[in-house]
Amino acid sequence: MHILKDQPIRRQVVAITCALLVPFIVAAAWSADRSRIEHADELREQAASVAATAGAYLNTYLSGLDSMASALARHPAVMTLDKPQCDLLFEAVLRDQPLILNIVVSDVTGAVKGSGVPSDNSRVSSNAMPYFSDTIRTGKPQVSDLMTGRISNRPTIVLSYPVRSAQGALVGVLGLGLNLPRLQTLFSDIPLPEGSVVTLADRNSRVLARSRDAERFIGKLSDPHPTAPRDVPRTQIRTALDNVERSYGNAVVDRGPWLLSVGIPTSLATMRVAPLVRRNLAIVLITMAAILLLSLGLSTSMSRGIDTLRAAVQRIADGDLSPPQRNSAPNRELTRLQDAFITMAANLRETHLALDHQVEQERKMRETLQSLQRQVVRQERLAAVGVLVSGVAHELNNPLQAILGTLELLERDRNIAPAVLEEIAFVKTQSGRAREIIRNLSRFSSQQSGPPTLVDLREVMTEVVQLRRRDLDASGIGLTVEVQTERKVWANFTEVEQVTLNFVINAQQSIEAAERSRGRILMRVFDVGKRVRLEVQDDGPGVTPEDEPKLFQPFFTTKPVGKGTGLGLSVSYGIIESYGGTIGHHPNEWGGATFFFELPVTDPSVRPSPPAGNKGTSKSDDRPPLLHRSVSPRV
Ligand code: ADP
Repeated sequence: MHILKDQPIRRQVVAITCALLVPFIVAAAWSADRSRIEHADELREQAASVAATAGAYLNTYLSGLDSMASALARHPAVMTLDKPQCDLLFEAVLRDQPLILNIVVSDVTGAVKGSGVPSDNSRVSSNAMPYFSDTIRTGKPQVSDLMTGRISNRPTIVLSYPVRSAQGALVGVLGLGLNLPRLQTLFSDIPLPEGSVVTLADRNSRVLARSRDAERFIGKLSDPHPTAPRDVPRTQIRTALDNVERSYGNAVVDRGPWLLSVGIPTSLATMRVAPLVRRNLAIVLITMAAILLLSLGLSTSMSRGIDTLRAAVQRIADGDLSPPQRNSAPNRELTRLQDAFITMAANLRETHLALDHQVEQERKMRETLQSLQRQVVRQERLAAVGVLVSGVAHELNNPLQAILGTLELLERDRNIAPAVLEEIAFVKTQSGRAREIIRNLSRFSSQQSGPPTLVDLREVMTEVVQLRRRDLDASGIGLTVEVQTERKVWANFTEVEQVTLNFVINAQQSIEAAERSRGRILMRVFDVGKRVRLEVQDDGPGVTPEDEPKLFQPFFTTKPVGKGTGLGLSVSYGIIESYGGTIGHHPNEWGGATFFFELPVTDPSVRPSPPAGNKGTSKSDDRPPLLHRSVSPRV
């Protein structure tokens, strides 16, 4: 069992079935051997019973012969040894006695005085035939050994009887020669199985008659160690003269005494068992084949069901949580297992989805938190900067006012040389610029703007063109304006103008930074659904991908110190967002940048209130903090 542990179920079933085959075959072989032994016993009993019957018959027959012989011995013709009469008498008797070869009567000298078979007047030699002299000597019946009949010239055994005269004197010997070949014919007629043999042996175990191959074995010793007939067991197994092993049944014929043996070949028992063995084997093999086929069928369908489950488990282990298919299972246990597995897979999938959802929510919350955190930090920084800027602007404004006032007074002084006046004018211009910057910073930090009105973006563009035309011409930059809508938006004119102006100034500075002799800017306004869109497109170098995410962050600038503050787009973002619009950037077909904003179209009859609370705050997580500023044209 242990070595089968790692084998597939089908191989295990085959191995177990083959292992089962061994005890089955052993049982079949044992049963066949038992049957063979029983058959051998039966055959031995059959042989013993036939031998007993035949022996009894022979004993009866020989008793009859004795009676007939004593009757013949008392016949007058025999008592008087009258040869012609005896010949006639014996011939008549022989006709009715086929088992008697001849009947002979001789006087005490051995001269033949009568014979059933015609004979010359020969004599019986007492030397050659001891039974004759024994009969004369004892006056009692005798039995000869196997001999060849002197008259018949055939093998025979002679039963001799004394013949007495009327006075009781021994006058002769009556001999009855047994017809042994005839006896053999009778033996052959006994219904026995093929190969059986019936043997009659004398007291010296010499074969007297044999139902098979008599001429070969008559006169030979049937047993190399002669045993007296009465000492031979009733049944025995031995190998006969023809080298065939047989089961023998033995019976004693008292007259001899002789031994009548009936032998049935032992191989017959094996032959009789052979069909049974074949039948048993066939039953075992057919049964085992049926069991094997059945088990193979069952195990195949089982292993197919298990394989399907294993494939589904592997699929889930590989991360595919789609619901497993329901297949037909070979039995109820596997069906239940499959159902339980499908339920488990469904629960696993639900848990997995819930976890995914939770993780996604947590990620979003984390991002929101981080964004809010960044926003708070920026807002706080901006608020601090705003306070600082407003304080500095206020402090600087007074001395600047004093400087400017003093300069104006100096300009009016007629005693001052023209060269000094030029210097005063220069100082006045630079101080004016400083005052303008301070004013802007002041406005930026105070976050103030005027009330919203209906704004026509065409007017905004006209204002911006007027402000920038001369400067752009000086830089060799062509400005084109396209107007495709007349619809108005609800906003503060100055703020929208500030955003547009910022776009145009950035476009101009971008073209100038490329150090080209010429450039172009396209400013256009058109409808996008329920919104009006204003775009400023330039053919400058455009925005690099790294800078793009930072464009609308406060203080982000790529310009040299003094030229850029990084507040223009951030402030624009805040303005447009505060009116519910969108602001953005994209690269254009000229290779430069296009900045745009979209504002909702306003029905002139309705006067919407601007989205309260939006000013100066962000609406979206990713939006930069909103800043407002008033931008005066940069000169
Ligand atoms: P500033 O102009 O003071 O730098 P802005 O917020 O207006 O601040 O602009 C931020 C940055 O955006 C600029 O420094 C510049 O790098 C980039 N930018 C804005 N407009 C353009 C443009 N039209 N082409 C290329 N870069 C631009």
